[in-house]
Amino acid sequence: MNDYDVERMTEVLRRDGFERTEVVEEADMIVVNTCSIREKAENKAASAAGRYQKLKERNPNLLVAIGGCVAQQEGEALLKRIPSADLTFGPDQIPNLAAHYEKLRPQVQTESWPQTSPKANRYRLRLAQTEVIDVEDYQFLDADPRPSDVSVTALVTIQKGCDNFCAYCIVPRTRGREVSRPADQVVREVARFVELGAREVTLIGQNVNAYHAIGMPDGEDFAELLRLVDSVPGLLRLRFTTSHPHYFTHKVADAFRDLRTLQPWLHLPVQAGSTKVLAAMAREYSREAYLDKIAYLRTVCPDISLSTDIIVGYPGETASDFEQTMQLLSEVEYDSIYSFAYSRRPGTPAVELPDDVSAEEKSRRLTALQSLQKQITAKRLARLVGRTEQILIEGRSRANPSQICGRTGGNHTVNIEVPDGVDVDALIGTLVPVSITAAKVHTLVGTLGNDSLG
Ligand code: SAH
Ligand code: SF4
Repeated sequence: MNDYDVERMTEVLRRDGFERTEVVEEADMIVVNTCSIREKAENKAASAAGRYQKLKERNPNLLVAIGGCVAQQEGEALLKRIPSADLTFGPDQIPNLAAHYEKLRPQVQTESWPQTSPKANRYRLRLAQTEVIDVEDYQFLDADPRPSDVSVTALVTIQKGCDNFCAYCIVPRTRGREVSRPADQVVREVARFVELGAREVTLIGQNVNAYHAIGMPDGEDFAELLRLVDSVPGLLRLRFTTSHPHYFTHKVADAFRDLRTLQPWLHLPVQAGSTKVLAAMAREYSREAYLDKIAYLRTVCPDISLSTDIIVGYPGETASDFEQTMQLLSEVEYDSIYSFAYSRRPGTPAVELPDDVSAEEKSRRLTALQSLQKQITAKRLARLVGRTEQILIEGRSRANPSQICGRTGGNHTVNIEVPDGVDVDALIGTLVPVSITAAKVHTLVGTLGNDSLG
């Protein structure tokens, strides 16, 4: 979601004459995107913004803008906390970024005192733009990538905001009410990315299964949207994230069996293995209901790869509640997990609950969970060794440019040795058979199958 926002910010600013630079000293404006999902992420963004003070001393024309969820939540207060910031803006204000810059620019040109003097700080114009657009008025920005920036995989948003109000989560407060993007706009954007060279598209939203596009005939929903996108010519692979288990229907599960492009990978955050903790989190499903959905999914798509999110140390989580999370991991056998220590977020309902699991205990549970998952991941990856998998080649490996990399349908990264004389560029964006020869901790190693060498 944050990567997606950064892409849109880049495009909006480019339309108004800005160019992205990798050299921070050359910038006229620095935009820091922030995330408030956990305290750690929030602190990281704030300290990044603070570091730009020195650059402002050297370049009085430089403006520092802070976007994202921290900016949305704190607006004015963030301007006070970070003296170098000129603008704070929430996610709904991305389309207006250049207009906000224009409001601030005249002062940059006319100011006669150094920006960092106390006087300048007192008089200079600073803006907090945190207005949230009403559901009825919300317009999704069409992606406008430069053809040269389009890679083999693309993200397409289908939804903004979230109406779920899980007790620990700040997203509904920072990103506002859920709005589904019109289906024709989604399909058009997917087709546009494919036209520009993308071969795999991931549809993104906070709770994609709750998709309910205004303007679609009654009863059409996420499964129908998947069907529409699946028929875009030239699209090789389709994925989506994130799914909330309560909204994940058999109809969507069936799509894994029925659709040409939908890949056998699902990220289905469970958060906790104890029904008691799930109820306290307001997740709207029990451990059993979650496991039933996984069981059904495996009947329609036996080879599916699964990943999940887990929060440990939620208020009231006992040792035996945590044990149920450990057991659930062993039972489901996820290919990978993202795990987090519970972080108290001001403005969420859970803030009322005593944060009664100590930091040491949270960290102990996190370590136990991650070491169990390490073994499960090893087992899940080992099962692929010796198989030939269709890999969508994305480019050269970052770690070793003599290799190429891509992913399996199940979303495992594979680094592939390329024999001399093979035209690597011709392989990028194509599906090639790859023999999987070894598994590392998180990735696979493979060699090109004979028929991919022509
Ligand atoms: N919409 C998605 C995920 C959004 S946030 C969903 O419902 O699954 C990504 C992950 O961050 C969550 O799944 C959760 O595991 C974690 N998270 C969110 N709030 C948190 C908090 N206050 N403390 C710790 N982890 C949190
Ligand atoms: Fe947060 Fe829950 Fe919405 Fe996910 S579904 S964004 S965890 S409120």
